[in-house]
Amino acid sequence: MSQNLQVFKFGGASLNSVERIQNVGEILKEMKGQPLVVVVSAMGKTTNELEKIVQAHAEQNGQALTLFEDFKRKSFETCLGLFDESHEVFVSLNDALVEIEWVLEEEPHENYDYTYDQIVSVGEIVSSIIVSAYLNEQGLPTRWLDARDIILTNNIYRAGWVQWKETQENADRIAKPMISSQAFVLTQGFIGTTSENFTTTLGREGSDYTAAIFSYCLDAKSMTIWKDVPGVLTGDPRLFDHVTKLDLLSYKEAIEMTYYGAKVIHPKTIKPLQNKSIPLWVKSFIDPQGSGTYISDEVADNYPPLVAVEKSQALLHISTRDFSFVAEHHMSHLFKMITEHRLQVNMMQNTAICFSICVNDVDDKVSAFSQAIEDQFKVIIDRELELITVRHYQDKILEELRADKIVLLEERIRETVQMVLKNVPVMKRK
Ligand code: ADP
Ligand code: ASP
Ligand code: MG
Repeated sequence: MSQNLQVFKFGGASLNSVERIQNVGEILKEMKGQPLVVVVSAMGKTTNELEKIVQAHAEQNGQALTLFEDFKRKSFETCLGLFDESHEVFVSLNDALVEIEWVLEEEPHENYDYTYDQIVSVGEIVSSIIVSAYLNEQGLPTRWLDARDIILTNNIYRAGWVQWKETQENADRIAKPMISSQAFVLTQGFIGTTSENFTTTLGREGSDYTAAIFSYCLDAKSMTIWKDVPGVLTGDPRLFDHVTKLDLLSYKEAIEMTYYGAKVIHPKTIKPLQNKSIPLWVKSFIDPQGSGTYISDEVADNYPPLVAVEKSQALLHISTRDFSFVAEHHMSHLFKMITEHRLQVNMMQNTAICFSICVNDVDDKVSAFSQAIEDQFKVIIDRELELITVRHYQDKILEELRADKIVLLEERIRETVQMVLKNVPVMKRK
């Protein structure tokens, strides 16, 4: 049965209103009678809203309950748009929401990331409860599966690493027997569990990755992620006007693009698919009949320039306090500290007396890292930068991207250019 299995993933944008959920129902009607695993993420911007609740609770600033009530109200409103008031979905919804209430009643836990995962994961649970009830209501039999029964991670909250062996065993034991042409299986993206049964999350935007984990473990014949764009484009349409759709993309190209910030697919998604040669479709939920982008082993050899932009970058210039060379033993220590502080290094460069790294500037990781090394090293930090990666570049494009910007670091390796850019400060004219 599972040779015919397909895995579909619907993200926040495809579920951000009653009409959009109904639209997902329309797309799935076409799949009736076929074995299908559906992975859903939280609706709309729910994850951002839940993050605010976590923060308010940690700060004990009195806002957490109000924000929670807001989330609760919106979830009930969505349900009222889809079901009768007497529908049993309201009971399940209450049960899911009460999990947040319990956390908020307690004093903040010493581990912020732990609390984060317990609260933020409820967004996916709520979404999956609503969508599966809706599909059943529409005559599309759907079985709800708790992704935490399948995906085992380590104990790193907010960035759980999948324990593949156990996850595969769970998939074989629990998920495989559920797959049938009689009913869809619907589960949540983004969430997993530790071996002690505490909920973890896989990192922001991680639902694409979840779909790839299921595709891999269940040997799907293809995976499709449904987006608000026609497919993978040559750049982010929110940032650039003249972008075109790529019909075909190799796994390798997709990994390169997404690793450097093409936000359309989570970077960890491609590898599990590539390992089993499972093709990935990126399609539009607005135009489901559109041709989309097909990502596979087939290599389209002529790519146009592809641009990926990572915002919120920090550039750290690290030198020894006595200006001696940055030697190998320094590097070894610095990498250890980078790992401990979970910094994501996007680019680096080494000169005789300076080691420069460009990293994602999230939370207070950069400050914590620089404080931890400042007894031995002098650190100069540049913030609010952009990292632009261009694959298959042409000089004209690079010039356009650099216009009105200062280039702080640039590197060219074969067909890839990376530039760390800063906006030119606005000067007063005389
Ligand atoms: P989801 O609803 O699954 O969370 P996302 O919002 O995370 O979807 O991803 C889709 C968005 O990715 C698009 O709306 C688009 O703005 C952005 N994006 C960034 N780079 C690209 C690209 N190269 N091609 C297509 N979309 C891109
Ligand atoms: N809901 C999660 C997020 O917004 C996961 C996802 O959407 O992929 O990050
Ligand atoms: Mg997303």
